[in-house]
Amino acid sequence: MAEVTVRVALPVPLRRAFDYRHPTPLAPGVRVRVPFGRRVLAGIVLASPVAAPPGIALRAIAEVIDEAPLLNAEQLGLLQFVADYYHHAIGEVVFTALPSALKRGLVLTPPKAYRLTPAGARSDAPPFPARAHRRRALWQALKDRGPLAEGDVTALARGLKPVLAALVREGLVEVCEHPRPAGAPPAAGPVLRPDQEAACAAVRAALGTFQAFLLFGVTGSGKTEVYLELIAAARARGDQALILVPEIGLTPQLMARFRARLPDGLGVLHSGLSETERARVWGQAARGELTVIVGTRSAVFAPLKRLGLIIVDEEHDGSLKQQDGLRYHARDIAIVRAQRAGVPVVLGSATPALESYRHALDGRYRLLRLPGRGPDRSLPRVTILDMGREAADGGLGPTLLAALRARLLRREQALVFLNRRGYAPVLLCPECRWHAPCERCDARLTVHLARKTLRCHHCGHERPLPATCPRCGHGRLLRVGEGTQRLEETLARALPEARIARIDRDTVTSRLAFEDLLTRMRARDIDILVGTQMLAKGHDFADLTLVGVVNADQGLFGSDFRADEQLFAQIMQVAGRAGRAAKAGEVIIQTHHPHHPLWSPLVALDYEAFAEVALKDRYETGFPPYAHCALLRAEALKPELPLRFLETARALGQGSEAVTLGSVLPATLARRAGYYRAQLLVTSAHRPLLQAWLTTWVERIAQLPAGRQVRWSLDVDPHSLF
Ligand SMILES: [Zn+2]
Ligand SMILES: [Zn+2]
Repeated sequence: MAEVTVRVALPVPLRRAFDYRHPTPLAPGVRVRVPFGRRVLAGIVLASPVAAPPGIALRAIAEVIDEAPLLNAEQLGLLQFVADYYHHAIGEVVFTALPSALKRGLVLTPPKAYRLTPAGARSDAPPFPARAHRRRALWQALKDRGPLAEGDVTALARGLKPVLAALVREGLVEVCEHPRPAGAPPAAGPVLRPDQEAACAAVRAALGTFQAFLLFGVTGSGKTEVYLELIAAARARGDQALILVPEIGLTPQLMARFRARLPDGLGVLHSGLSETERARVWGQAARGELTVIVGTRSAVFAPLKRLGLIIVDEEHDGSLKQQDGLRYHARDIAIVRAQRAGVPVVLGSATPALESYRHALDGRYRLLRLPGRGPDRSLPRVTILDMGREAADGGLGPTLLAALRARLLRREQALVFLNRRGYAPVLLCPECRWHAPCERCDARLTVHLARKTLRCHHCGHERPLPATCPRCGHGRLLRVGEGTQRLEETLARALPEARIARIDRDTVTSRLAFEDLLTRMRARDIDILVGTQMLAKGHDFADLTLVGVVNADQGLFGSDFRADEQLFAQIMQVAGRAGRAAKAGEVIIQTHHPHHPLWSPLVALDYEAFAEVALKDRYETGFPPYAHCALLRAEALKPELPLRFLETARALGQGSEAVTLGSVLPATLARRAGYYRAQLLVTSAHRPLLQAWLTTWVERIAQLPAGRQVRWSLDVDPHSLF
């Protein structure tokens, strides 16, 4: 019997696909099980029939898993592009895109869902014991949102299954069918302002063709309403819309709006879902049962039967770039996907990435401005405080303290932002200058008082807080610098009547805890919220009128080329939390460098003034968007191995005029978790030339014997040079 050759992608780090034999051709995108060495792996058919490699006895495919392809031609083409562009193994790319359950070849069973019983829904709040916080919170979630899939429940917080079981035992909750019953009719949206309507009209006119748009509008300018209007327009054509957002867990308000306005046909994909739940949403999207997919980074690979529109919200956000494995940028892939599919893509931001903004200035992207703010919004007043003139106590100057006190008297809320968690960043011995180093990283340990520990924020290493200096025995160790925990303590001392809450990765360990904090904030149970950037993402509180930025300086002189851009975006985002028309907002930024050029555009809340200076700076220093970069990283347990490997790689790459090779340098954090790290930067003015050059170079690097002694990776368009 004549057999055909089938090319299969497998989840192995080798930069190629593998050929197998099978009695009949198989459709690309179908999953199969094949022997690989002594193992059996699930793989995806890339092509068949292909020409058989001469003189090699191929092994047979062991099992065909799917009747119909799991990935369609559009997706397979996109994944091949991604593999080529990031110079990554095709098998790993294909399997990065798939939900884990599907990677292993699992066949899906419908998951369970839960809802309140009539008894559970009847009362305002069942008489839970006072200490049953979790039971009450879960009941509230089911009351607010209606039926929840098992995966949605487990995504709320760890260990909720027994709590759910208790509610079922008490007769308050019951198992129901999936998918959720048809909900309320879609809530009507507000009437759009003329600038919003103009933006919608421009994108609507482009439906059915490729065009990239940059939707540029400050916080409160109503980008979400534009998205919702465009989604409706795409759905009216029978198309599906794909919406990428930075972090779903931190944006419950955005998700609530999506759920209210799109009660059916909405699917959500994020890392908090269980494997089966993820796979279920994937399957529904692929079959066209869902018309809108909202998801984080990896949702850019979601299968869509009739893709009609892509939206990337907060397109400047760093979380859209994957920082390990396949280091893709979801925004960049979104643009390529839109181009290949012939559909419009909308990038939304109040502080666009400089790359995107430059494309808009060049006319490659169409710039859509939302200069207006909603009727209930006003821009806050921004003040820069020179800390050289302020007698600061524990990081808080008297001016900021007085402003906080005034808010307390007026019964308004305030937010104090400090991007450093823990109690104090350094534990210092005044006698011998010992400063609590991490033994596995070139970094200092952070004091965490609540757990009485020293913790490394780079590798997670933790140990008890010493009472005396481990080096000289000195008995009074100093805690130097400010973390959110210490700031909370200082505030509590200075404003004993204030109700203060802290929000950072130490206090907020689950989505349930996060949403609980937001609820308390909205219920006015909190006067001052202290925290890291976790609180910066799109949370609106009507009575919040003051934002204090403590110690902004740590971002001012960052060694990375994006440091200024990130600090600007971060403070703009935090500042956007303050102010409504009825109650004017105020932002106070404490700095020891009041004349730094970053402050004047921030005081004016003027992104374009900032971008003009920043783009000039990037042009002069030769960084993106004026150059294209790739970073070759290597790490090993011995310090000389990564250096040797990178020097060899550098020597291999010499002699081309297309690219500039940097020097081999230790990484900014030269040792992390015991590994010595080094890197080599490659830049080029021309992306296609860089790509062609990288193809040859990476092939040759992959053959290097020195490469087997290190862990190495190539990062195309690196987000940071750390
Ligand atoms: Zn000492
Ligand atoms: Zn460490």
